Amino acid sequence: MKSKKITKSGGITIPAEVRRNHNLFPGDAVDIDSSGNQIIITAHMDRCFICQNEHDVVNYQGKSFCRECIKELGGLISE
Ligand SMILES: [Zn+2]
Repeated sequence: MKSKKITKSGGITIPAEVRRNHNLFPGDAVDIDSSGNQIIITAHMDRCFICQNEHDVVNYQGKSFCRECIKELGGLISE
């Protein structure tokens, strides 16, 4: 376990070895959560705006949707 100091602006540097092991590159987003006395950092994955599914997600006008929800939405429209 490595100790890191928090910068004046609240930042920390994720150690290079950890970044390599988790395929994190400059510009990648991470999600930060807390649980009890732990701070949990995970690689960000786009989730469906409707069902929160993180698989097979596409982006449309700044929002992410999974293909299943897109199919359901398409079914609501009758021509
Ligand atoms: Zn969905």
